[in-house]
Order: sequence, then C-alpha cells, then structure tokens
Amino acid sequence: MYWQEMTTKTFADHAVGHMDTVLIPVGSVQAHGLHLPLGSDSYVPEALCRRLEAHFPDRVLIAPTLAYGHSWGLARWPGTISLSSRLVAAYASEVGEQLAGWGMRHVVFINGHGGNIGPLTEAMERVAEVGSRAVLINWWIDFRDDILQVVTETGHASEDETSVMLAVRQDLVRMGDAESNPYRLRRVLVISEDLLDKAMRHAVAGNPKRGSREKGEAILKTVEQRLVQLMEDVWADRLFEETRGTTDGSTENH
Ligand SMILES: [Zn+2]
Repeated sequence: MYWQEMTTKTFADHAVGHMDTVLIPVGSVQAHGLHLPLGSDSYVPEALCRRLEAHFPDRVLIAPTLAYGHSWGLARWPGTISLSSRLVAAYASEVGEQLAGWGMRHVVFINGHGGNIGPLTEAMERVAEVGSRAVLINWWIDFRDDILQVVTETGHASEDETSVMLAVRQDLVRMGDAESNPYRLRRVLVISEDLLDKAMRHAVAGNPKRGSREKGEAILKTVEQRLVQLMEDVWADRLFEETRGTTDGSTENH
C-alpha cells in the first residue's frame, strides 16, 4: 500500500496496529552523465519499491519519496539541486521518527544515491533511538557482486545505472548523448574541487555506452529477489550469521 493514497480513516483502519514496515525511496536531483534524467536516483528506488509492494501488498507501506539529496560533487552541473548533508540528515531523521511514531517498527530506506549514505546513517540512528529498526539499502553497493554478473563495472551513470534506467524509464534516456569517463579514482578516497573534472568528467564515472535494457531488466530482477529475501530475513530476525571462528573477523566496518 502507498502511504499517500490512503485517507486518514483507511490509514487508521488498515495500517495502525496492522502494518509495521515502511519503505522510503530516497533519491537526488542531480546530473547523471549527459544522457540520464536528473531524477534517476529517485526513479530506480521507486521501481524497486513497486516490485516489493507487489510481493508484500499487505505487509509493506511505501512512503513518499525523499527526492532531494546531497550531491556536492555534481552541484555545478545544470539542473543539480544539492542540499547540505546535515539538512538531508535532519529531514530524513524527522520523517523516519514520525514513521516510527505511526507504528513502523521496520523503517527501510531504499536509497539511490551515494551522497545520501552519510546523512541516512545519521537518520537511522535517530530511528533506532525511538525504538524502531532502521534498514538502509544501497542497491548498487549491497548487491554489487550480483550486478557484476550482468555488467562489467558499476559507477555513477555508468553501465549498471544506465542499464537499469533503460529498464525503468527508457523514454527519458538519451543514449546518443552518452559519454564515457576515461578516469577512475583509485581506491583511496580523495575529494577536492580541482579533481572533479576527472572524477566526474561528463558527470559520469565509467562507460554508460555498454548499458542496455536487457542488462537493466536482469539487474532489477536479481536485486528484487535479494530484497525479497532480505525483507523476510528482517522480519524473521535473521540478520546475523555465526562465523564459528572460521573467518578472521574482518568486516567493512573497522
Ligand atoms: Zn544515480
């Protein structure tokens, strides 16, 4: 069910006390190469939410999209609207807290944009403090191994995102304008204004020209399957695996 489509009466009758899981698409308004729409980061999470809603129509509510994000590195490109990181954090926090206040024990941010990860992590902490469980899905990171079975690389407006946008809103994609960026950042994170021309040449990181609708459909299908499993794991509390001392215990969260 969609939060915005309900009346206050239908919400009181069907959501309060009955539904405890909300999905919030989170996007950005920013340049995506020269070929993808400015709203790409909202369109993809919204498409994933539609698929999850179809799987669990009586179990999940879809909240209105948080359409503005934090896009410092692309702020100078025509059409980009970048909010400060602290404003996105505050906005997402207050929305998350109020969703929790309406009985949402599982507050799931389905994020489409890397610049939102820091602010959303802060919002998740606020949600946790009011007693709910917050989940953050960054589809292109969390399911990267699966995605790399379909495409050769992942990156902003690159082969993966271009493919998915061709599957979601082909009418808005202008492949004839696609340009590839020959530069790749090394693994160490470096940020400075004088590096942006290389880091985000043509507002892209990678080669979008290899994108195709078929690859996008394949990515959406595998991400959808992963998300369905993840939601079932969240509801069943299957969020940890025991290592039994067989690993070295290293994680990405040092
Ligand atoms: Zn994007």
